[in-house]
Order: sequence, then structure tokens, then C-alpha cells
Amino acid sequence: MSSAGSFTSADRTTISKAASLAEGLTWSFFDLPADEWKRNPYGIYTRREVDKTLHEPDVFARVVRYRPPNRSGSTGDRDRYGIVLQDSNILLALLRSGALDLWTLGLFVLTHELIHIVRFRKHNIDFFASAEERDNEEKVVQAMTKEILAGVTNTDRLLSLYESQAELTRG
Ligand SMILES: [Zn+2]
Repeated sequence: MSSAGSFTSADRTTISKAASLAEGLTWSFFDLPADEWKRNPYGIYTRREVDKTLHEPDVFARVVRYRPPNRSGSTGDRDRYGIVLQDSNILLALLRSGALDLWTLGLFVLTHELIHIVRFRKHNIDFFASAEERDNEEKVVQAMTKEILAGVTNTDRLLSLYESQAELTRG
């Protein structure tokens, strides 16, 4: 997949707003504690901000897990999650579709990735599962994404994009 550039600062603002809505939607869907996202902050990163080993040609986004050092400098005991957005892939898909906007696609991608994070943290989904288990988990997460967003936005066009580019749904 050729490069279609990186998010501008205006794009980042759109993504932040979409993330806020995605947090609210997943919070409500999973009946999470009121301060869930405050107590468990996650980072959103773009390709420029991460090591090249995290650049992927065929996905919109991927969840990463890491263990930040605690105050004394040794390894902490709590995992943190982050979402790495493959912004060039997202922008290219928008260019190709001609009909979608970053707000809508961003909301879709972020909701999907936040569902992954909730399920890793709370539902004992194995971050290092086998390929087959990961495929099953993708199906579950995709179905939940569809359910959550069905009442929010017209997801038909988004879903047809996802289904026509099967590789991109695996993130
Ligand atoms: Zn996924």
C-alpha cells in the first residue's frame, strides 16, 4: 500500500473528538465505572510517533500493550494500552472511498480498538492468543462495533468498506 501522508493537526483534533465519543459509547455499552477511562488512560499514536517495527501496511490501527516504569524507575506492575493509528492507511482508504470522512471512519476505528482494550483488561482475552483465537476475537469485536455504532451513524457504507478490504479489518 503506497503512502497517503500523515494526519495534520486538524486531523488530530478530529481524532481526539472521535475518541471522546468512542470512550462514551464503549463506557455505556460495557457498563463501565464512571471514571474508567480516567483511571485507565490509553495513548493514541500515529505512525510518526512510533518505532518503524509498529508500522503495518494492512491495518487501520492496532492495540499495543506496555508496562511503564513506576516512580522508582523499575518496571511497573500495571499494563497500559495504546492505539497505534496507521494514519497513511486511513487517509488512503478515505481517498479511495471518496464518500467517507475522517470523523466517521475515525469513530469506527477508535470504537473498535477501545472494545479490544476493554476485553483485554476485563474479559481475560489473551493479548498473545493464537492466530485462530485472534480471528474469533476479531469477529466478536467487529459485531460489537457494529452494534454500538448502529444507533449513532450510518454504518452500512463503513461496513461495506471493511468487508471489501478484509485485510484492513484485522487490527
Ligand atoms: Zn480488531
